[in-house]
Amino acid sequence: MTLKEIPLPPKKHIALVAHDHKKKDLLEWCQFNKSTLSRHHLYGTGTTGSLLEEHLELPITKLKSGPLGGDQQVGAKIAEGEIDFLIFFWDPLEPQPHDPDVKALLRLAQVWNIPIANNRSSADFMISSPLMLEEYTRKVAVYERSLDDLNLEE
Ligand code: PGA
Repeated sequence: MTLKEIPLPPKKHIALVAHDHKKKDLLEWCQFNKSTLSRHHLYGTGTTGSLLEEHLELPITKLKSGPLGGDQQVGAKIAEGEIDFLIFFWDPLEPQPHDPDVKALLRLAQVWNIPIANNRSSADFMISSPLMLEEYTRKVAVYERSLDDLNLEE
C-alpha cells in the first residue's frame, strides 16, 4: 500500500467535542491545559464550543451542534486537512441520536491518522507529549484508484 506523508505542524488545529455528560470533564481538562491549548487553533462543536469559549476566554471556531451536523463538519474538515487533532470525550453510557455521525467522525479520524483522544487519560498523555509543539509527519494510506481499475469494458 502506498503511503502519503502529511505534516502535522507545531500549531495544531484541534477539534474539541464532548457529549453532554462529558462536557464538565472536558471543560476541567481544558482549563488545566489552557496555556498549551492557547498555542493552537481550536474548534468546537456548537454547545461544547460555546461552553469552552465562555469559560476559557480563548478564540474557538464554533461549528454546528453535534446532533445538527457538527460532528460531520469536523469529519469533513479532517478530510480536507483543516483539522489535524481530535479531542472527543464521547459517552459510552448514553445513546446518542446522531450515533452514525459519531461513528463516521471516528472513522475519518482513523483514516487520516490524526491523533485522537477519546478520554481524559489519553488527552493527558497526548497533551504532555513534546510532539504537541513540534512538527510531526503522519502517514496516510493512498486509496485513490485509477479509472482503469473500474473495468467498464466488461
Ligand atoms: P455539542 O455536540 O457540542 O453541540 O453538544 C457534541 C456532540 O454531541 O457531538
